Amino acid sequence: MLKKLLVSLAVAAVCFGPATALLSVTVLANPAIAACAPGSLIVGPIPDSLTATTKNGETVTLNRQQLTHAATIITVGGQTDGIGRPGMVIALMAALTESHLRMLANTGTYPESANYPNDGDASDHDSLGLFQMRPQAGWGTVPELMDPNYQARAFYGGPTGPNYPSPRGLLDIPGWQQLDPGEAAQAVEVSAYPDRYQNYQPVAEAILTALTKPAPSTGGGGGEVVVPETTRVVFPLPEGTWVRTSPFGWRTDPITFEQAFHSGSDFAAADGTPIYAVADGIVTHAGYTGSWGGLIIVEHTVGGERIASYYAHMWEYGIHVTEGMTVTAGQHIGDVGSSGKSTGPHLHLEIRPGGTGQPAIDADQWLTDKGAEGITGGTTSRASCTLGGGGS
Ligand SMILES: [Zn+2]
Repeated sequence: MLKKLLVSLAVAAVCFGPATALLSVTVLANPAIAACAPGSLIVGPIPDSLTATTKNGETVTLNRQQLTHAATIITVGGQTDGIGRPGMVIALMAALTESHLRMLANTGTYPESANYPNDGDASDHDSLGLFQMRPQAGWGTVPELMDPNYQARAFYGGPTGPNYPSPRGLLDIPGWQQLDPGEAAQAVEVSAYPDRYQNYQPVAEAILTALTKPAPSTGGGGGEVVVPETTRVVFPLPEGTWVRTSPFGWRTDPITFEQAFHSGSDFAAADGTPIYAVADGIVTHAGYTGSWGGLIIVEHTVGGERIASYYAHMWEYGIHVTEGMTVTAGQHIGDVGSSGKSTGPHLHLEIRPGGTGQPAIDADQWLTDKGAEGITGGTTSRASCTLGGGGS
């Protein structure tokens, strides 16, 4: 089934030259093949830990959380034109050096940074997150910089980056491909110590090798067609913003008052609350119809299994993705609304194993089974809360 899927869906997750860990030095030295070349990588299952050795001979062991951030950096790199494998290595070296691949809050300068998912607190000036970016230097707001996906996009920079042209990301450094990777990382971070970054190059290479694998060839050459493979699942709404209202299963329809099967899980949240993609994937539908209202469908490969996630009832202006886009886990794809068959602002979430159009399972239970990040952040169910109409 995976093969069929590879043929039928859009866009390679990650492009790279003919690179392996051994070849990468050649690739780095040759800017001509730094851009996307035919062939692609997919992000595979994330291991529980990875041990590698720095240039100075220290042993570094990374846990699954750190490797999940690395996967985000790799996936975003794959979505950014001109980055390729060399740029991903530089980004990983920078994040390893700056934060040890941890999303660091900074409660000394920004107490509110602790309200976002984080891996600990550090208080270096006003730096935040994986790349230790500083709001006061113009890298972004606190909410933006507490988002790993945003930090990766800001690090890579370029015309599609959030800060173009300044502060400069990697693509904004002229001739970055010719620089030593440590110097390139230093140029983005504006740090005084290039050696610190160089020390982590072997670790960055090891991460890239462990987390990715070449996409199986379909013999067509050029753009391979791959759904990113992942094991990371996140809850689709920010912690503390939602309550469970209507679960999956038979219920009295809140509009017709007849017994009807509810194929999704409803989470009530304020109008405009951000909706996150539950996993890395590709948007296969983003549109507005009568009964669903706004509907986004994302196709994923989670732990080797094909899954479609459905997000319904956004207002038309609350849909922030288009068909064919690659999204990462936790990416802001829409805003909670109350369009279509709905009695109040909420997210109607469905999970369909096998992909679009296959029977739905209990989405809330699926999130629990997958250990979704942020699932403990909601309050318990209130029976009297707004009920949402499902799309089926
Ligand atoms: Zn519903």
